[in-house]
Formats: sequence, C-alpha cells, structure tokens
Amino acid sequence: MSSESFIPLAVPQIAGREWEYVKECLDSGWVSSVGAFVERFEREFAATVGARHAIATVNGTAALHVALRLAGVAAEDEVLVSGLTFVAPANAVRYLGAWPVFMDAEPAHWQMDVAKVRDFLRTECAARSGRLVNRTTGRRIAALLPVHILGHPVDLEPLLELAHHYSLPVVEDATESLAATYDGRAAGTFGLLGCFSFNGNKLITTGGGGMIVTNDSDVAARARYLTTQAKDDPIEFVHNDIGYNYRMPNILAAVGVAQLEQLDAFAGRKRTIFQRYRDELSGIDGISFPHESRRAHSCWWLSTARFDPAKGLDRRAIAAALRAADIDSRPLWHPLHALRPFRECQAYRIDVTPAIHRGALSLPCSTGLTDDEQDRVIDAIRRAPGARRTSSADRVLLEDA
Ligand SMILES: *Cc1c(COP(=O)(O)O)cnc(C)c1O
Repeated sequence: MSSESFIPLAVPQIAGREWEYVKECLDSGWVSSVGAFVERFEREFAATVGARHAIATVNGTAALHVALRLAGVAAEDEVLVSGLTFVAPANAVRYLGAWPVFMDAEPAHWQMDVAKVRDFLRTECAARSGRLVNRTTGRRIAALLPVHILGHPVDLEPLLELAHHYSLPVVEDATESLAATYDGRAAGTFGLLGCFSFNGNKLITTGGGGMIVTNDSDVAARARYLTTQAKDDPIEFVHNDIGYNYRMPNILAAVGVAQLEQLDAFAGRKRTIFQRYRDELSGIDGISFPHESRRAHSCWWLSTARFDPAKGLDRRAIAAALRAADIDSRPLWHPLHALRPFRECQAYRIDVTPAIHRGALSLPCSTGLTDDEQDRVIDAIRRAPGARRTSSADRVLLEDA
C-alpha cells in the first residue's frame, strides 16, 4: 500500500561490540561450551541482576526445566503456574512428568493473581503426612512458578509469604522481565531460582540462550552439573546422574556480553516506547494498557494494548488495519488451560485471563523503533475501525478526517 517500510513487532538490535567479541572468540578457537566469554557473561549477568550465581544455558526453556528439577519437582507433582503466559514454563513442568495447575491473571498488571493463589492453597489443598496435597487430584504441590509477563513483575511479597508459609520453593520465570524490579530488586532474584531467556525477541539476545540465577551455592553447583551432562569425572566419563547438554556455547556468550553492555539503553528505550503509546492512545475510548504497580519498575518488554470489544474495538480488525499499513502486531498467547496438552490440567477460577487475551494486541516495540515509525503505528490505530477519541484536547483525528 505504501512505499514506507514494514515495521516488525520486535527485532534485536546488534549495535555494540558483538562483532568484536565474536571475532575474539573465533580467533581464540574457544567456541564451544567452555571458554572465557561464558564465565564472563555469567559473572556480569549475576552482577547486573544482583544474584550470587548465574549459570548460562542453551535457552530459557532449558533453564526452566533444570530449575524446576532443582526445586525438587518430580513426576506426578503439581506446580502452580501463571495461565497467561508463553507456553514454555508449562512445558517445562511436563518435561519432568509433573502437572501445571493454572492460575488466573489479575486485571491491573495482568500478572499471576496472588490472591487466587492464596485461595487455592487455603481452600483446595490440605496437609497430608507432611506434604501439601491438592484435594481434587491427590497430587503433591511441589513449587510455585510465577511468570513475570511482558516486563512487569508478579506481586512478589505476598507470593513469597505464601511460599514460606507452605514451605514451597519458588522458581521465577523472569524471561520477559530482565531489567524489571520489585521493591528495587531485580525480578528473578526473589525465588530459590530465577530463569532468563536471550531468544531473538527478548530484551537482550544471544540468538538463543538462557540463564539460571540463584543465591544458593549448592543449587548453583547442581545447576552447573546437570546442565553439563552430570559429569563427575570428565576424563573417565563417569556420570552419576541423568544430566542434560544445556550449556551455552562460548560464541553465543560473546554476543551476550556485548548485549549486556547495552541493557540500560535497551530497557530505557522500551519504557519510552510504552509510555508514548500509552500517552497517545489512552485517550481513545476502549483502549487501555496494563498499569505499573507502585512497588514495581517495569521494563515494558512488550508494549501491549487492550482493545475493549464492548466499545466496538476488535483486536483482529485493529491487527488487520495495521497489517494493511505494513505494520506488525501480535495477540497474546492463547490461554494455556485451553490448549490441547493441558486440557486435563486443573485451572483455578480462570476468568480474567480470557478477557485480557480477547482484547490484547502487542504493538511494534523494537529498541531500534524510530519516533516516525511509532507515529505511523499510532496513526494507523487512530484510523482503525471503531477508534473514537474521547479527549477533545486532541484534534488531529478530526482535522485528518
Ligand atoms: C521466551 C520465554 C521463555 C523461554 O524461551 P526460550 O525461547 O526457550 O529462551 C520462557 N517463558 C516465557 C514466558 C517466555 O516468554
């Protein structure tokens, strides 16, 4: 339709010393899962988030798999998981033969509803011979798996209180929330273990990659051991446990070190982009955005708006209008409890999640997005079917019409 170029949803920005470090890595010959960049990436990442230990992995899903195992999750256990999230954390629970129990989202920040987690633990579970058991399924509740979606943390203090009260380990899926904080502390560093991802669309990328963080030295050592094939004697090939080939190659860690140097700039840009969308679009009747909790600093990894069908705004029609203007957008993840592999799993009082999913659309928010490009997105939404301004302060639309 136009001669203007396509605006993607979120693409990585390779703007720092990536080439230099990768070259250094190639020149050294240390390209695989041993090498100076892996150690450096782990050290600098740990320092960045304020964790004692960091263990680099091949991706975020692998990090979750190992973290859940280290938290003691085993076959036929249950793990309480956010129901509004990318599928990876629920899959990781299943890799261990355990079962996710899906928790609803709250409407203000779209995160796991901790009040409902409390209700579930209180009313649906019982202590039986020293174990916390789900009365419906008879299975043991083994861990809590909050997912900090879209760059904003779950309400961690009440969640940690519950974890403490019921003696449940917490594994945080912070893959979407690097650079987000809660009470000034990095998301991902509150639980026994936290997991991060460096997939291509995450805040920083290594092409593919992940990280486990923990403050517990024994857990860190176990994480390192399990992700390196549980090697007890590398010379004699002695393995005393079932391990995984999950370590990050040095060549990717080289990219990670360079990306990490740009983290503050990327995170700042994400916030600016989100705030601009919110400022420019909130005046349209039926468009809203997740709120930032007063205890949180969100990195707004994705700029996601909610379009209210009751106000005549259909996210599919908005997406089509954007597509016609050569602009990418994406719905949120299909609610997990409704996906085929999880239909047998318990879903506890899930009613907010489907409503958010029905109206949500993520808008272009690459860190390299220009103001002109963002103007194009905003403009296209203002002209989309059903969009009506409620604020008389902005006359742009009327003049254009
Ligand atoms: C990206 C992501 C992951 C992990 O993704 P990988 O592609 O395996 O690195 C896990 N959980 C959530 C919520 C994610 O968005």
